[in-house]
Amino acid sequence: TTPTPSDIEIASAATPLGIKTVAETMLGLSEDDYELYGRYKAKLSEKLSMSLGARAGAGGRGPTCDATAGHGYYVVTAGITPTPLGEGKSTTTIGLVQALQAHTNARAVACIRQPSMGPTFGIKGGAAGGGYSQVIPMEEMNLHLTGDIHAIGVATNLVAAAIDARVFHEETQSDEALWKRLIPKKKDGSSAFSAIMFKRLKRLGIDKTNPDDLTEEERSKFVRLDIDRERITWRRVVDMNDRFLREITVGESPTEKGKTRKTGFDITVASEIMAVLAMTTSLADMEHRLGAMVVGPDRQGGPVTCDDLGVTGAVMALMKDAIKPTLMQTLEATPVLVHAGPFANIASGNSSIIADQIGLSMVGKGGFVVTEAGFGADIGLEKFVNLKCRKSGLKPNCAVIVATVRALKCHGGGPPVTAGKPLDHSYTNENVDMVRDGMCNLVRHIENTKAFGIPVVVAINAFPTDTPAEHEVIRELSIAAGAEDAVLCTHHAKGGAGAVELANAVKAACEKNEDCKDFKFGYDTNLDIASKIEAVAKNIYKASGIELSEKAQEKIALYTKQGFGDLPICMAKTQYSFSHDQNLKGAPSGFTLPIGDVRLSAGAGFLVPLVGAFPTIPGLPTRPAYYEIAVDAESGNVLGLS
Ligand code: ADP
Repeated sequence: TTPTPSDIEIASAATPLGIKTVAETMLGLSEDDYELYGRYKAKLSEKLSMSLGARAGAGGRGPTCDATAGHGYYVVTAGITPTPLGEGKSTTTIGLVQALQAHTNARAVACIRQPSMGPTFGIKGGAAGGGYSQVIPMEEMNLHLTGDIHAIGVATNLVAAAIDARVFHEETQSDEALWKRLIPKKKDGSSAFSAIMFKRLKRLGIDKTNPDDLTEEERSKFVRLDIDRERITWRRVVDMNDRFLREITVGESPTEKGKTRKTGFDITVASEIMAVLAMTTSLADMEHRLGAMVVGPDRQGGPVTCDDLGVTGAVMALMKDAIKPTLMQTLEATPVLVHAGPFANIASGNSSIIADQIGLSMVGKGGFVVTEAGFGADIGLEKFVNLKCRKSGLKPNCAVIVATVRALKCHGGGPPVTAGKPLDHSYTNENVDMVRDGMCNLVRHIENTKAFGIPVVVAINAFPTDTPAEHEVIRELSIAAGAEDAVLCTHHAKGGAGAVELANAVKAACEKNEDCKDFKFGYDTNLDIASKIEAVAKNIYKASGIELSEKAQEKIALYTKQGFGDLPICMAKTQYSFSHDQNLKGAPSGFTLPIGDVRLSAGAGFLVPLVGAFPTIPGLPTRPAYYEIAVDAESGNVLGLS
């Protein structure tokens, strides 16, 4: 067999349809439903699912899981515990919709995350799928897209600028001077009190409509946020693997009068605004969430929010287009919605609720939305269920768990797999026993998914070096573990044609589970914070218990006191093991899960327990992907993306 050409070779050889054709001919949208961003991308209104519902006369069809009520089947793609090379979840998501639409005649939309540019130039390369199952144009997908990540970066940094400037002004001015500058007199003599300032008054419990009526004491309370500068949690962001920004000192210029502060940068996709975008359901909901984001405590330990800083409206102005998903297409001209891209280890790791809702109403009854959950099912799928579905009210009809011989061998005792290094021969030669030994990992993911009441179809993502005996062992043991089916897929080499069997298995599983009646969350949010962490640790990771550091205990006490104890949790854990130790492969159990810290994402709506230390901005390797990237001066095309 001839080897599959590289991702960029395949992508550049393809001729995409104009996105207008995808929107109008394939999805039946009208010109008012989308805004063109160049020839191959369009943004869809965040209200589209509602207006499509109304148009269909279904009384604002709205997002329910009931596939009989007019919207499509909801399928989530998850994976086994991956190697650093990735096991093909994006590739399978794309291959599956290509198969569903082009080969079984069902309407299908894929919902995927927008790739961060950090990894594009760093280690892993882009995330537009691979082989003959890709989103095109690939360079537009991997670089800039429609600017959402830029918007999030600017919005996050505006909040950061607002915090440091505010602390500086409060430290260098009297209450009276602050009041005068913050609330100058207008020409007509009235005070320039903006709408968001009234919000702060309300939060302070001051029930006055005329700012001139405030007492001196109330004025001081109003102008002093009194942010505890040593405990500010808000960080600046950049969408690049720039490790030297992990820890920095700001305020070094003499103009800042020696008021330096240690802080740092995160990668943009790790920001809370990105997490908000993924979890939000409307502009009004987004405004509420952005306003509620906590930037740190004041000196009395109370939460200081974006609303307190007065910056929410400006952040909304920066984010108003980012809330709209971007419509693109696969290599086989099926529609794809690209929207949001929160990191999977420290944030929710799933694409947006809005895109899934729009997708479901666009495909209609009998159609399919295939949405991707990042990393292994212990992380991405757990958060899909406990965070995303809990918020959206949607329930999946089935889950696809992607497995590879490569990852199973890694769990069955194979030597470590490192990106950029050739694979050991145990990975490239047949070794059925090693695959069998590694199956404990996949089996646990199947069992965990079934415990949420979601039927599982295993997609065996075939690589050229795999053998039929290796595939058979995966099939047999997956079905024995309770999967509805386990199918060999060759969509990387063959496109949709290679995933027809998978499409049929998914269709059968969805039809069998139209009403999602067994679907359940992993825990009740009204449990106390530690019990929620324990539920995930014990039930999903199979830890024997958790150990909370002193810092974690303090934070839990603080957040409970501040009224955030009812939020669900978003675990920050390595994707390379069920446990906290990335070297523990297979299906470890009986370990104690250490929780070093807990962070609050009040706007996104969750608490983030940190299992170990996480670089929230990756670094570049000695030989980064950028060495290969160039622009062809003749055609203007980008070369070397992977
Ligand atoms: P994930 O979404 O799980 O991280 P991706 O779908 O991004 O994984 O795939 C990771 C890389 O592996 C991509 O470069 C893709 O082209 C490649 N890949 C995926 N499936 C196959 C396959 N069956 N054969 C060869 N390469 C593959």
